[in-house]
Amino acid sequence: MGNLKRLDVNPCKMCMPIGAAIAFKGIEESMLLMHGSQGCSTYMRRHMSTHYEEPIDIASSSIDEQGTVYGGEKNLRQGLKNLIKLYSPKVIGVVTTCLAETIGEDINRIAADFKKANDVEDISIITVPTPGYGGSQFEGYYLTLRKIVEQLAESSGAKSSKLNVAAANLSPAEVREIKRILDLFELEYTILPDISKTLAAPFTKDYSKIPPGGTKISEIKKMGDAAFTIEFGTLVDSSLSTAVYLKDKFGIPAYRLPIPIGLKNTDQLINILAEISGKKIPLSLKEARGRLIDTMIDSHKYNSEGRAAVFGDPEMIYAVSSICQENGISPVIMATGTDLDIFQRKLEELTADSRDQNLIFSDTDFEEIRNYVNEYNINIMIGNSDGAFIEEKDGIPLIRVGFPIHDRVGASRQQNIGYQGSNNFLDQITNQILALKHDNYREDLYKEFYQANKGAAAAKDAAELKVGEE
Ligand code: SF4
Repeated sequence: MGNLKRLDVNPCKMCMPIGAAIAFKGIEESMLLMHGSQGCSTYMRRHMSTHYEEPIDIASSSIDEQGTVYGGEKNLRQGLKNLIKLYSPKVIGVVTTCLAETIGEDINRIAADFKKANDVEDISIITVPTPGYGGSQFEGYYLTLRKIVEQLAESSGAKSSKLNVAAANLSPAEVREIKRILDLFELEYTILPDISKTLAAPFTKDYSKIPPGGTKISEIKKMGDAAFTIEFGTLVDSSLSTAVYLKDKFGIPAYRLPIPIGLKNTDQLINILAEISGKKIPLSLKEARGRLIDTMIDSHKYNSEGRAAVFGDPEMIYAVSSICQENGISPVIMATGTDLDIFQRKLEELTADSRDQNLIFSDTDFEEIRNYVNEYNINIMIGNSDGAFIEEKDGIPLIRVGFPIHDRVGASRQQNIGYQGSNNFLDQITNQILALKHDNYREDLYKEFYQANKGAAAAKDAAELKVGEE
């Protein structure tokens, strides 16, 4: 269903550079510089630091009025110099914002000239055009992964047995879970980006300006030699896909999978890992699968009462709607602020045998979502905390998932993927549906009783009235 509104009220998305910032935070010894006005980087840092509960440094070229009129090259050059002096990074991501793109800044040329003019050959400067109006954080994230690989990956001519993994925008705990599963299959891999430590750093007494961890540049350079690529992104346009790039450029077979939330999506990943590793599925995974099925059987009878609105990032919506669909929770509303043609078709396919009418919105906003949530008797919402005002105003509970989560702790520890994570996530959903039932059952019983007896009571009242008249 397209969005016919001409104005977004409370957008259900964030802008492109924040997706780029998350992706760069998963690269070892990297720093990000946003070319544009200062407020953009402040906004990104504020969102990321409350979500991940970590200090987030993002530099800005701070273009002012003069730079806006005459060009911001001077600011960018000075910004790069300052950043190198303060942080000594090995990688610098230079991304644009609305202002830099609108005044036509050529960041590729400026970065190349800067490298020539300064003794910084050992620093990789990766440029990504991310105007805020060019898309949402979804496009910014995937485009950045692709640009990192386009600008760094090479082929030595000798194939390795390694696996490339282009991760979706997962939590640090979920990236750790993907790595644990890959280790179970004894696979060698490069996961991009690896935010498992950088955005969930263990406490230490010494503060590092750039947190340790992240994907090593030396590993990214070798991605052109890999045997396979797995990308978590079935809704990603091929022009933004890292897997498609690696396939076209280096002939590396690509598997593009949904985020492994739910039984079917996790099975898909596990079966592919078994196939490419040539190993049997480890017993621990088989047992975890069995436990998930047991949970599904146990909770099915409660979940049929669930009428869900799922919103946020397109890939996350697809995965969350999958687990709802396979457990009898009806994903009545599936809505993203990202303008994405394929979203409608893929979600229609997913919910083809749904018992309810499904409403699928791309390029939408929270005003529209709220209207439909109330009109279609939604009793549970699953999405990021930007939808929390609907919970507050209309009393419909929100299970917080995805990015950003500002009003609860633990976003970086959320683990909803794989068999074990899906099990926990399903429990959360089921418990919320049970809570609704228990919180409201007296009222519901009363309403049922009242409806059933309304006719009889009215007839009795009328009879008494008649007797009184006589
Ligand atoms: S929408 Fe544009 S101006 Fe606003 S924060 Fe994003 S990049 Fe900056």
